[in-house]
Amino acid sequence: MHAEELKYNFIKRYGIAISLIALLSTVAFYILHLALRMSDSSALVVNISGKQRMLSQRIASQAQQYYGHLSNTGDKENIQEIRVALYRSMKEMGDANDRLSSGRLRHGETIAVSNEVWELYFGERKLKNRVDNYLVLVDLLLHTKTKHSAKGILNEIISSSNAILPELNAAVTLYQHEGEENLTLVSNMELGAWLLTLFVLMLEVIFIFQPMANQIRELFQKVVWNRQNLLQEIEIRTLSLQQANEKLAHLASHDPLTGLKNRLNLEAELEELSKNYRIHHLPYALVMLDIDWFKRINDTYGHDAGDFVLCELAMIFAQSVRPQDSVYRAGGEEFVIIFNRITQEQVMKKCEKIRQKIQDHPFSYNGNTFDITISSGVYHTDVVEVENIQVALKLADNALYEAKRSGRNRVVMAHEELVVVA
Ligand code: GH3
Ligand code: MG
Ligand code: MG
Repeated sequence: MHAEELKYNFIKRYGIAISLIALLSTVAFYILHLALRMSDSSALVVNISGKQRMLSQRIASQAQQYYGHLSNTGDKENIQEIRVALYRSMKEMGDANDRLSSGRLRHGETIAVSNEVWELYFGERKLKNRVDNYLVLVDLLLHTKTKHSAKGILNEIISSSNAILPELNAAVTLYQHEGEENLTLVSNMELGAWLLTLFVLMLEVIFIFQPMANQIRELFQKVVWNRQNLLQEIEIRTLSLQQANEKLAHLASHDPLTGLKNRLNLEAELEELSKNYRIHHLPYALVMLDIDWFKRINDTYGHDAGDFVLCELAMIFAQSVRPQDSVYRAGGEEFVIIFNRITQEQVMKKCEKIRQKIQDHPFSYNGNTFDITISSGVYHTDVVEVENIQVALKLADNALYEAKRSGRNRVVMAHEELVVVA
């Protein structure tokens, strides 16, 4: 997964998680709001029904007082006061009866009337009608002037009051009971909302945040792996480049046929020796070796046989020198050996030994055996002092020419006279 894809995924999952939390908060808020409204409505309805019950009793008592003052003509002021109070109680009770039976508790607040409440007010028990009738009796009493007819109405009011009191009590109990039930329902809903919130949060952790964390971890791991792979790749390439460079350097400085160092190395190493000689007077010898009549080998046995001779000679030279000495293929069938820290006697001995070794060596190739000899020209620092290596090389070459000229298969030491020839 790429960083861009991860970013998109991250935003998407984050959006879902936030939306779910927002939705849950809204649900919780709504439930709380509902709970507050329900508890408010429950309190109000219980209050109104309680007040209605109280009013029914107050009306009965006020009706009795009214009747008591009706015969007493001198008590006009008091009777008026009681009339007003009774009238007010009547209106209040009528209002409470309307509100409770319809569910319209106050402006803008209506509760659903339950079946039980409806049954109480409009079913067999007809509480709504009975309360209305009760209030009609009160109204009748308020319009009655004679004590005699008032007495009959008062009796009806008292018996009606006694009859509806248990029903009003039942209404109060019913409302209280329904209020408690509603509150229990809301508190269960609140508990449900809380549990749902916890459950959704747990699901978010499992299905949103944990996979997201895993994706981030995987991406980081990939980045680390890619980096490691890249470093390894660089290391491998650097190594193979180094190897290729070393190979190239080896190819440039070595002869591919014999594996010996070539002329390029010869001149550089000779320069180093010559410098050492000038500073520390460390003697060295430069020997140039050339195969005698080599052309004939090629012509008689083929170029491959010539190559074989070159390789055999390279091996013999390499085996015959000391660790501090070096063998080079200077070009064609010419070889050079540099002897480091050697006296002229020692070098002559060495060259003679090599010459003898080659003369005695049986060169066998493709079922043919042939003899090979070499001629050598030697330059030694103790014999002639030279200004530069080119002169030393020329001297060795002249000595080699001298060896050829004087009959081949021999070793000639370069001397002062050869400088003139050079
Ligand atoms: P001399 O004794 O005067 O040195 O005689 P020569 O025949 O050795 O002398 P010349 O320099 O005329 O011949 C050298 C020959 O070496 C010529 C060439 O074909 C042969 N040669 C040079 N390089 C190679 C090589 O890499 N492989 C083979 N097989 N022959 C080579
Ligand atoms: Mg030659
Ligand atoms: Mg030759």
